[in-house]
Amino acid sequence: MNLKDVLHMKEGDGEFSYAHNCTIQEKIFSGVNKPMVERALRSLLLNDTIRQSRILNVADLGCSIGPSPINLISLVSKTVESTSKELNLEDDQVPEIQMYMNDLPTNDFNLLFKTVGTMQVLEHGTTSSCFVVGVPGSFYGRLLPRNSVHFVHSNYALQWLSKVPQSVYDEVGNSMNKESITISESSPPNVVKAYKAQFQQDSKLFLGCRSSEVVPNGYMLLALKGSPSIHPQLSCTSRLLYRALSNLVSKGLIKENVLESFDMPLYFPAKEEIQSAITEEGSFEIEKMEGIVNHAAKEIENKQTKAETIAKTIRAFSETLVSLHFGENIWNVLFDELAQVTLKHLEVAPVDGFSIIILLKKKLCIETSSRI
Ligand code: SAH
Repeated sequence: MNLKDVLHMKEGDGEFSYAHNCTIQEKIFSGVNKPMVERALRSLLLNDTIRQSRILNVADLGCSIGPSPINLISLVSKTVESTSKELNLEDDQVPEIQMYMNDLPTNDFNLLFKTVGTMQVLEHGTTSSCFVVGVPGSFYGRLLPRNSVHFVHSNYALQWLSKVPQSVYDEVGNSMNKESITISESSPPNVVKAYKAQFQQDSKLFLGCRSSEVVPNGYMLLALKGSPSIHPQLSCTSRLLYRALSNLVSKGLIKENVLESFDMPLYFPAKEEIQSAITEEGSFEIEKMEGIVNHAAKEIENKQTKAETIAKTIRAFSETLVSLHFGENIWNVLFDELAQVTLKHLEVAPVDGFSIIILLKKKLCIETSSRI
């Protein structure tokens, strides 16, 4: 199975859909990314070469569905319009915006474009024109023409690796990461090493591809789920999913060896690990980097409702891969189990996560010519 042919967040706009269960991602976008997007766009519009080209190419990588991609389109349009006014640009000097919405091919692009179709900022007659197109494919490969993109945005997508590293499995294909579904405190050192190496390899590939596509002095804003330390820790949501699955093993509903062979292609890097990938790849410099702790469903008081909301969030991102491994029917029992283990966890601690947000600028001259 090739991950890029199957991975997608829960499609549609139903109760369990990603579109309705991505509050954390949306909060990161509107709370942290937004001012950085505005800052990058302003700086681009002040750049004569870019302004003279009269077109601003913006890509959202791993856009999925739901509020974040829609809010990004709206923010880019509004920022271009307001900055152009501030700069007293004539109507025909205001750059037209080309938005490239990228995700893997099985993403629910139909729903995304249905929503895009209803957006008022796209109605012509406003000062800035914005055109939106879909770009299906993996961001671990080239997606757009060389030297054409001014701004890349990617929210909560880069923690997805291109695959579970091959060396997690022994010669006969059994996973050596038995008590976990991504790396944890109990993962064997060779498994930890394999996940860390896969992240370095993938992130350098990502940066190399973007280096070919982004114009000199162009910007890239990356927000992803990370880890506060370089020591392997299972993230809180992965721990809850693992606990719910192992409870189903205890109840005889899943075979132990089936759970032991389930590994997710997720890695939550520490800031230092991202920094070293950026430095080694060499095409971008870091303008700003932030790490923040977030508590899931913080605004919900009632513990039962909070637990169900968090369980829906976990289901929305993991449903496809869990169904492929355990069968779709597993969700008839897994969702309630997940809500219960989450409720138990909430009795003692919040469900917290760590986000890393980085604003990068493409260097004018790149020393190595490792173009992809
Ligand atoms: N940006 C959105 C979605 C985040 S979920 C938001 O803020 O809500 C992560 C998304 O990344 C998923 O839709 C997943 O399909 C996509 N993704 C994961 N790996 C990818 C890859 N290699 N190439 C393109 N998209 C990928």
